Formats: sequence, C-alpha cells, structure tokens
Amino acid sequence: MFHEESSLRHPANRNRIDALLSDTVVQPMAFASQESKALLEKHPGASLKWNTMTGTPSWIEGKLSMAMAGTATGVSQSFLMENPKVLGISADDAEELTQVDSFEWNGLQFIRLQQNHQGLPVFGASVLVGVDDKNQVRMVTSGLRPQISVQRSEKTISLKEARQIARKDLGEAMELRGTITHKTVLYPTQQGHVETYHLTVPAENPLGDWEYFIDVQNGEIVDSYNSMMFHSHYFAPRARVYPENPEDTALKTVMLRDIKSPYNKLDGEYCKVINEDAPAAMASSNYRFDFSPDNTHFDECQVYYAVEKVYQYFLNLGFRGFKVNNLYGKANNGQLAANVHTGTNYDNAYYSSATGQIYFGDGSYPGNAYGLRDLAKEVDVVAHEFTHALIDEYHPGMFGTEGAALHEGYSDYFAASLTDDSEVGEYVVPAPEASGVIRNCDNNLRYPDAPTQPHARGKVWSGACWDLKKELGQEVSDFLIFGSVLILGTTSPTFKYAKDILLLIDQYWCGGEYKATIKRIFEAERGIPI
Ligand SMILES: [Zn+2]
Repeated sequence: MFHEESSLRHPANRNRIDALLSDTVVQPMAFASQESKALLEKHPGASLKWNTMTGTPSWIEGKLSMAMAGTATGVSQSFLMENPKVLGISADDAEELTQVDSFEWNGLQFIRLQQNHQGLPVFGASVLVGVDDKNQVRMVTSGLRPQISVQRSEKTISLKEARQIARKDLGEAMELRGTITHKTVLYPTQQGHVETYHLTVPAENPLGDWEYFIDVQNGEIVDSYNSMMFHSHYFAPRARVYPENPEDTALKTVMLRDIKSPYNKLDGEYCKVINEDAPAAMASSNYRFDFSPDNTHFDECQVYYAVEKVYQYFLNLGFRGFKVNNLYGKANNGQLAANVHTGTNYDNAYYSSATGQIYFGDGSYPGNAYGLRDLAKEVDVVAHEFTHALIDEYHPGMFGTEGAALHEGYSDYFAASLTDDSEVGEYVVPAPEASGVIRNCDNNLRYPDAPTQPHARGKVWSGACWDLKKELGQEVSDFLIFGSVLILGTTSPTFKYAKDILLLIDQYWCGGEYKATIKRIFEAERGIPI
C-alpha cells in the first residue's frame, strides 16, 4: 500500500478550469472602468487593482461609502446594488447575490456574498465586502464573474443518470467512503457558463473527494477533479542513504489544556481524536494518558496535542474557529476531528472537505524501504493538514491548479512558521536527501519555471512567504499572510491575485510600509506577474 496518491494521476483529474487561466492580459471592461472611475473620484484616497484575467476589479479599497445606520450586511448589499457595473455584473445579478458568510478580523466586519444567476449559484464566484465600525464600506475583494448569460431549459439528464456517469468514470473498482452529495450550479468554461450537476463523490478507491460537473443537457463531464488535500503527492521510489536516521526521541510531559469533563478521553474544546484501529484512549485514574510510542493510543495523544497547539496559534492570529463551513466543526462546536492509524501502512496524511476531518497514516517504513514514518508523529504535518481545514472554513472548495497550489503553499508556510523550521516532513521522510516528499520553504524556486503540480508550484508560494518572514520577522509576515488568506475574494485564486490581496492587507493595515518588500520578493524575485 504505497500508491494511493496515484489517484492524483487518475484520469478523473481533468481540471479543465485551468484552461481559463491565460497569460493574455484582459483590459478593464469599458463600463466597469467608467463606473469605477466615477466611484474613485467620489471617494478621494480610494484605490483599485484590476484583475487582468477578467477585466474587472480584484479589489477596491478606501472610504467607499458614507457612514450609515443599519447592519454590515445591509450596508454591503446596498453598496453592491448601487455599484454593480463597477464589479462587471448586471443589476439583476447584483439583486441575486446572497450572503453565505460573515466574520470579523482586525476591526472590519466582512460579509461574503455568493453570485447567482437565474436562481443558480455560479460555482466559485463570490464577493467579500469589509465594513468598519461606522458602517462605512472600506474594501471589496471580488471573484465575481462578469457578463454571464445562459439559456436555461428542461433538464434532459436525471440526477440518477449523472451519478452513474460519475461512477463509471471513476472505474470498475470504485468504492464509496460515504454518500454522494449534489447541487445544481453554473460552471465556468471557455465557452461560457454551463448548467451542471455538481456531484461530490467520497471514494475509498480511487481515494479522494471527487468533484464532478455534469452537463444537465447532454451528460457530458464538463470538469472533474479530486478536492482531497494530501500531505504529499505521488510517492516516487528513492534511494535510501541513511538507513538509521538519528532523531530526537525524548518524551516530554505536556499539558492537554482543553479536555472536556470528565477528563478521561481525548475529547476537548478544539479536538476530538478517532483511532481507526482501536476504541478511544482512556486516561488512567489520575487523568494521565501515558502510552509508549508503540502503543496504538500514543498517536491519539500526539495528534491531540498537536491540534491544540496549532489551533491556539491560529486563534492568536484571529482565526474564528471551525464554525461555519467545516462540517465536523460545525456539528461539534468548533472541534476538529483528527483520525490516526488511517488505512494500513498508509504513507500519507490528508484533509477531507467532505467530512471536515484530518487523517494520518502510519507509514510503511521500514517494511517498505521507500515508505514514510508514522505521519501522526510530526507536528508540522498536523499543522499542514490543519491549515487546509482552516482555508476550507473560509473558502469552501478552493479549486483550480493555482488555487490548489496556494492551498499547499499556505499550508507549508504556516507549518514551517509555527515550528520556526523551514522544512516540512523532515521526520516522516527517512532519507531526506533522496526524497521528493520533504518540502523546504527556504528555496529559490520561480513561478514561471515551477511545474504546475500543486505541491511543486506551492513551493514557490511558501518560499516567497518564507522570504517575507526572514525579512520582516514572524509577527509581521504571519499577520500579512494570514489576513490575505481570509480576504481572498475568489475560490479560484491565481498567484497574482493572492499576491495582490497581500498588497491590499499591507495597504489597509500597515499603510503600505511593506509594499516595496512584497513587490520585490513576490514579483521581482519569484516572477509572479505584476
Ligand atoms: Zn497539502
């Protein structure tokens, strides 16, 4: 068992959405440009960044409205109803925007609204409005899709047929881990938006949360991909150079601060642990969870400790906790469920958006010389999967090759920043020199040269973020990067878009103090488009 990740090379990973990412620069749309000029003139000091893939604004920042009475939701809605053309959408589409989320961060209340067209959600399209305590709109980040038009007619493919199409596509050996869920959405293609069934297929084999978009008229698979977030990608056989890698095995007693009464199970305010191989660990009569590292319960304690630590780190940065979109957290008041001993000698760890939980395999090393060590035993692996869960909380289903690469890049950056060590996975990989799995944020990779595979391209992003930390220190870089994750205005961000949002965080909260540094690192040194 060491090739589950081959599911990432399964033909069901179409990722056709990537065709929409192009190098050709789209000029600002005429009417959006006219209207936004008027808006900027009306509000001195306001500024705007164009999205060169859509010709509409990526973000607008400034005092964008008068102070007024009412709620942040009301203020956001009226701003959007008054300025649809600035964002490249019609007045009808502005009326159909629906609030899907809200959160507070550093003095602003953020309202996220989903784009709909003729009653159908436009997949991945939303807008985020930041409102201050005077009820003034201070920033808008947009992932709205301009100029949507669709011809809707009766569906000719039934939901049952769509399910069969997806099952057949996943192959004969397909085995489910849960139930298939569905929605009807408009999915973007190069030819415009298509009405599709969006099916999520949680499969054991091929392992993944498979997202299918099937045309309701002709049953064609418009797009499909695996949204499961793995720790590592395809595991290439490697030469083993150090057969016995010396490691720090000193066990230390730590406090597990948030266990719930009666304090005898690893079930707390922030985490609940599930052991796939055995019933849950029980504390001894003096509330101690003492197990030797080869005991099945040891990993439960280890992962529980790591999740508490990572959760606290993110709460300090302004994380609201798992409250809204993470299924498990929502059902369990913010708890993140962590699974240990997943599979048999399984050489990976992952976050599943279908369950909202994180999973850790035991690894197949040393039985398999090319395998990994127990993935539950490394804090930065837990931090990496936790970050995937956190991003999914604010941006459910972030997608596209660059969206997936950013998911990986942020996850590696925060894992490295938390442990103050640029390497991620250094324990689980027995022979670092020979391995393609261990990742180092301290790198010089450039955007245009990096392969598009998410973990490979993600290293460019984590590398740039790490450079920022080296120059500005952890406090400043964590603040800028965490903030920029929260207010991404789209669920299919590009590197350029994410970098522009980072500049926005700096402009609004730090008065542009770090603009030159960000531009040098991300644009000049890493080659991310200006
Ligand atoms: Zn990952």
